[in-house]
Amino acid sequence: MREELRWTGDIGRVVVSRKDDKWFVSILVRTDDANTMVQVPLFDDRPAVGVDVGINTLATCSDGTKYENPRPLKRYLRKLRRAGRMLSRKVYLSRNWHKARKRLAHVHYRIACIREDSHHKASTSIVRKASAIGIETLNVSGLLKNRKLAKALSDSALSKFLTMLKYKAERRGIPITEASMFFASSKTCSSCGHKKAELNLSERTYHCTECSFTCDRDVNAAMNLCPV
Ligand SMILES: [Zn+2]
Repeated sequence: MREELRWTGDIGRVVVSRKDDKWFVSILVRTDDANTMVQVPLFDDRPAVGVDVGINTLATCSDGTKYENPRPLKRYLRKLRRAGRMLSRKVYLSRNWHKARKRLAHVHYRIACIREDSHHKASTSIVRKASAIGIETLNVSGLLKNRKLAKALSDSALSKFLTMLKYKAERRGIPITEASMFFASSKTCSSCGHKKAELNLSERTYHCTECSFTCDRDVNAAMNLCPV
């Protein structure tokens, strides 16, 4: 397999790495044009978009679009456990141990690929349609204290997704606003601003008792995060 270099210039650092017995080469090219990586926004009439991230749905936009979370760990858990068991039964550093180790690494690699692929697809789609983006600041350490949520959260790797969204927005010159960690994007009504004291995770529809605004829970949160 080979691919031509997409940029011309002096070649700087070359890093060769290996993941799951696949080889990767990363080449740093110094170009004259500092703006090579800046991709100009595609449309001028694009709206500002608020993005709510979550466990079941990876991202919900204020325009109502949803990007599902593939949750690969859940799907691959049996394979992962079996590969782990196989490895633990082999004699350490024996030929079969090495084979089993490879198999386990391969399952981990598959999981990472599926996750990354869905993150790339969603983040690219979002930056393409937005002129400004609003996101929340995840209180991950607080959420991880909830044991039930912890596994699902590490599976969906939400902070990695937000980091990806941020750098893609920056690259296109799209301003990105991060709400405060304490902003109650889910509990607040996006129509009148009333804040509920309690909002159960099982309540999938937001219904405001003040102005009777009714909306999908995640879309309401995304609308609250929408800049402007
Ligand atoms: Zn309201």
